[in-house]
Amino acid sequence: MNMTTLLISLHGGHSGQYCNHAVDLLEDIILRYIELGFTKVGITEHVPPVNDFFLFPDEKEAGLTTAAINKRFENYFNELNALKNKYASKIKIFAGMETETCTGYADHINKLISKFQPNYIVGSVHHIDDIYFDYSKEEYDRAASVCGSYDAMYEKYFDLQYEMIKTLKPFIIGHFDLIRIYDKDYKKRLLLPQINRKIQRNLKLIKSLNLVMDFNLRPLARGEKEPYITSSILKKAKEMEICVVPGDDSHSVNEAGRHVDKAIEILKAYGFKTQWPDPVLLT
Ligand SMILES: [Zn+2]
Ligand SMILES: [Zn+2]
Repeated sequence: MNMTTLLISLHGGHSGQYCNHAVDLLEDIILRYIELGFTKVGITEHVPPVNDFFLFPDEKEAGLTTAAINKRFENYFNELNALKNKYASKIKIFAGMETETCTGYADHINKLISKFQPNYIVGSVHHIDDIYFDYSKEEYDRAASVCGSYDAMYEKYFDLQYEMIKTLKPFIIGHFDLIRIYDKDYKKRLLLPQINRKIQRNLKLIKSLNLVMDFNLRPLARGEKEPYITSSILKKAKEMEICVVPGDDSHSVNEAGRHVDKAIEILKAYGFKTQWPDPVLLT
């Protein structure tokens, strides 16, 4: 029997209108998904910063303030909800947002949830000790030196992630092993006992809360070999019967839906179910 698998992405759709490190219009990105044959998609723009300290470097350069980004975020939900209705006969859009895990995040995210009532959230960790580690290799190394070593930084990352999952119960765990981003030795490091223990602990929590892991395709867009999550963790997720769903993490029309077919192939090869759940808000 040849069951057709629906194309899907539950993490991505960043657009130049609402994100400084993305390009293109949100509507054009939605149209691209429709063109590719997607019948469901989740759009998850980055949340505004907690305060001006957490402005991204490109936002600071553009002269933006937290207040301006808050306003822009309100426009994002307004437009996304309008596009949801406009294209309802062609595609089911889930209106979401990608969270941060920095000082003050819990109150901040809960306020955004009550204000905008998103369909679901993606829980991500982009900061360690409030350093935005995935921004550049320099920031990554700075975070490692604050932690004392790369190993210690990995441990800190998975501890922050654990706390975030308990606090926010995000339907999707974004790029679970993003901490490996600039590390050539990540495969070995993720298997070190003290790090692996924390990974197993986080996977158990994900499973117990029935959450979903993002099979994040951004590394493929950069020419790397495998998505987040790496094969050793993907195997473990399969053994634990954790649900894993593709996320293109797109930041342009061109990236929308890219490599999702490949992601589905990989998931099938590992024996995952490829009937996707509809995301919901759990907090
Ligand atoms: Zn982004
Ligand atoms: Zn992210």
